[in-house]
Amino acid sequence: MADAEGRAAERWRVAVDRGVCIGSGMCVGAAPDGFRLDTARQSHPVATETEAGERVLAAAEGCPVEAITLTAADSGAAVFPPEE
Ligand code: SF4
Repeated sequence: MADAEGRAAERWRVAVDRGVCIGSGMCVGAAPDGFRLDTARQSHPVATETEAGERVLAAAEGCPVEAITLTAADSGAAVFPPEE
């Protein structure tokens, strides 16, 4: 996908630290297309890379234990949590 100026739409890498995830399911509620809980109630990103978007950002921001990390797919720059 490209925007009106021909730039590629920003993409993010999505990772869940399953050693931290407590299985609250809030990420699935915020971004049902972005996350799934497995049978052990551990969250997994549906895809390791996704188009940048409000829902996946809201899921990361809403995770009570900050288990979700978003990075820019091209540069690797931190999206969430933001760099200090
Ligand atoms: S919101 Fe965070 S703790 Fe809850 S299921 Fe998703 S990744 Fe796990």
